[in-house]
Amino acid sequence: MPTRSTRNREQTEAGLRKRFGRIRKKLLLWFRVHDRAYPWRQTQNWFHLLMAEMMLRRTRADQVVPVYRDFVRDFPTPRHALLHPAKELEKRFRSLGMHWRGQQLRSTISYLHDHFAARQPAADSDFEEIPGVGPYSSAMLQSRLFRKRVAAVDANVARFIARLVGLAHHAESRRDREVVCLANRFVNSPRAADLNLAMIDFSALVCKARTPLCAGCPLRSDCASGQISPERMSRSGPDNTSRSAGREGNAPASMSGHSIVTSTERPRVRRTPGARRKPESKCRGST
Ligand code: SF4
Repeated sequence: MPTRSTRNREQTEAGLRKRFGRIRKKLLLWFRVHDRAYPWRQTQNWFHLLMAEMMLRRTRADQVVPVYRDFVRDFPTPRHALLHPAKELEKRFRSLGMHWRGQQLRSTISYLHDHFAARQPAADSDFEEIPGVGPYSSAMLQSRLFRKRVAAVDANVARFIARLVGLAHHAESRRDREVVCLANRFVNSPRAADLNLAMIDFSALVCKARTPLCAGCPLRSDCASGQISPERMSRSGPDNTSRSAGREGNAPASMSGHSIVTSTERPRVRRTPGARRKPESKCRGST
């Protein structure tokens, strides 16, 4: 016979699953209308997607659009890129700032040539090994190209997920195992790629860092933080996730490792004021 704690956990688990299911549907409906149709969202070309991810690192999407368009026109494949001197490639990235990124580009393309004969890597996990591809980009590419149910978690997505379940968030929440695990559970759907993109847009346009638009939020009835005023929400912990512009207008993802969970360090998690309980203590990822 199941014990009371087992029953409680199962109820919480089932409740969270249902709530995530409802939120997914609402979020995808919202996304259908509000998708910021950036050019890299209109393609399934693996090389173009990879180049877009490299350009978007710590850079606003609007700034990336013209650079991306010119780049994929002139260098549609890794082979085209390798035909040109390194300086020419670096020049293309220079307008986006960060000199190292242009240099990284060359070594990434050389790696693709040496290890995959400049063709799309066959396995989703291959993307985790490519130099210059961090956990965020790897997850995004895996979900877009292989339909893998894995969440691309940057600072803004981490904030969104933490608010949904009533966990306090901070600049490093994207490294928090529990937040990453919950994000993976959230995108555990055949539409994981769309959910990843939808979370980017929703956290930039509605669930903003300092002034979340809770009053008109379509997810409010299912959000643990939705009934809390933005002022109280910000008192729940420091939030500097909006300080740096980044991927698709969001803060940058972690660059520190080759797995989705990049750190064993688990920041102290405080509950958002008004949130009644933590959704569960044990989060099993979807992948
Ligand atoms: S209700 Fe507020 S905190 Fe919750 S998802 Fe919507 S905007 Fe974010």
